[in-house]
Amino acid sequence: MKQTDVIIIGGGPAGSAMACYIARSGASCIVFEKEKFPRPHVGESLVPASNRVFNDLNFFPKMEAEGFLKKFGAAWTTYSSANIYNHDFAEFKGSDVDILFNERKQKDIHEPHTYHVDRGRFDQLLLEHAAEMGASTFQEADVFHVDFIDKSNVHVSVRMKDGQEEKFGCKILVDASGRHTFMGNKLKIKVKDPVFNQCAVHTWFSGFNRNAFKDPDFIYIHFIPVSNSWMWQIPITDEITSVGLVSQKQNFPNTKEGREKFFWECAELRPELLAELKKAKQIRDFTVEADYSYAMTELVKDNLVLIGDAARFVDPIFSSGVSIALNSARFASADIIRALQSNNYEKSSFANYESTLKRGVNNWYRFIQMYYRLNILFTYFVNTPEYRLDVLKFLQGDVYDEENPCLLKAMEKIITQVENNPKHPLHAMLGTLTSKSFNVFGAK
Ligand SMILES: Cc1cc2nc3c(=O)[nH]c(=O)nc-3n(C[C@H](O)[C@H](O)[C@H](O)COP(=O)(O)OP(=O)(O)OC[C@H]3O[C@@H](n4cnc5c(N)ncnc54)[C@H](O)[C@@H]3O)c2cc1C
Repeated sequence: MKQTDVIIIGGGPAGSAMACYIARSGASCIVFEKEKFPRPHVGESLVPASNRVFNDLNFFPKMEAEGFLKKFGAAWTTYSSANIYNHDFAEFKGSDVDILFNERKQKDIHEPHTYHVDRGRFDQLLLEHAAEMGASTFQEADVFHVDFIDKSNVHVSVRMKDGQEEKFGCKILVDASGRHTFMGNKLKIKVKDPVFNQCAVHTWFSGFNRNAFKDPDFIYIHFIPVSNSWMWQIPITDEITSVGLVSQKQNFPNTKEGREKFFWECAELRPELLAELKKAKQIRDFTVEADYSYAMTELVKDNLVLIGDAARFVDPIFSSGVSIALNSARFASADIIRALQSNNYEKSSFANYESTLKRGVNNWYRFIQMYYRLNILFTYFVNTPEYRLDVLKFLQGDVYDEENPCLLKAMEKIITQVENNPKHPLHAMLGTLTSKSFNVFGAK
């Protein structure tokens, strides 16, 4: 049986970044990826905290050579009947908001931009990069069984490309299997999110005129007048734009045709978006992503580390997923490399990683919850000079360093006031999520 230090299940951004870090340290590792790359994948718009990992791994030259589109900021648009409020809640109408990443300096990040990516190509390049750095990588290799034998021995069974089943041994297993949550399911440590039950339907358009919008190279989030629902517009290449609809599961029809019809009905609620969609050509089938919010009760165990979506998935409204995947690999690899040096693969060796990731993802989760409970508050905070840079810090993906950020405390305070005062000008705009929902998954 072939032995290695670390086996990684999954060659998405989390698994490949992990493989780069481990290989760079001189330890041995193998990545098993069940698909043949390139394969399509949702999650195309990055946030700048991803750049730290690209820098660490010297991956920027490959991003540049591929010509991925630069993302300098993000914009949110409201429907015409929506109101936006300024600092003292006096009403002003029709304002959209946008934000540039370089309005706030980020430690160790020197570029004013991050990227929008075709995930097929991005994931392929990062997996190839891991191989160049010394990792062994196998595609069309499906991990179907694992055995934790003893303190330094895990056996992993894999169905290889040729259909043969092979066994590999390692000291530490990393689950980076994404929303397949291979180990989460096996160990029964996965908890479905009791608050968010969002689904998405998305596709690509060719010839969508992004110049009809103020910042054509930004991601656009278009609010729609359906509860807890929004649409994304993400530039993929000069020619291609990704467009998706996120809504609550209860709003989604069961059939394929019904879901596509629902997409177009929601687009109709934003005539300026619909006008450009109608002139463009849909070049991919619609894809549906269902039931995607969950957490794991534990992120690490003896000989085992969960990273990326295999560890936790939060709603994608602020494009956080790939950055969490990459940075979870960054944090976890530091613990894994130390564990290999000290031959101690117990759960406690991975405690730094677990607490850092939980802190960051809980912060994202609380921020996202505020948005769904009172989304008008988000545009209000972006428009308020006192809080603009605090919001931007989140949107840049810098969420791991504070236990209870001032921004979240300030948002919670206002939401509580609005909830407790039926006469508050924002009371009628409250979402359907309740304050009790703040306590799930240990969020403060
Ligand atoms: C609707 C929606 C919109 C999103 N939008 C954004 C966005 O704009 N920006 C953003 O940053 N994120 C977004 N995300 C999140 C993003 O897609 C994920 O967070 C990101 O892909 C996580 O990377 P990962 O490496 O953890 O998992 P993945 O990218 O899913 O990679 C996991 C890999 O593991 C492989 N695998 C699974 N099981 C096995 C097995 N048993 N054996 C071998 N291989 C296996 C899979 O084939 C897959 O390639 C969105 C998600 C959704 C659902």
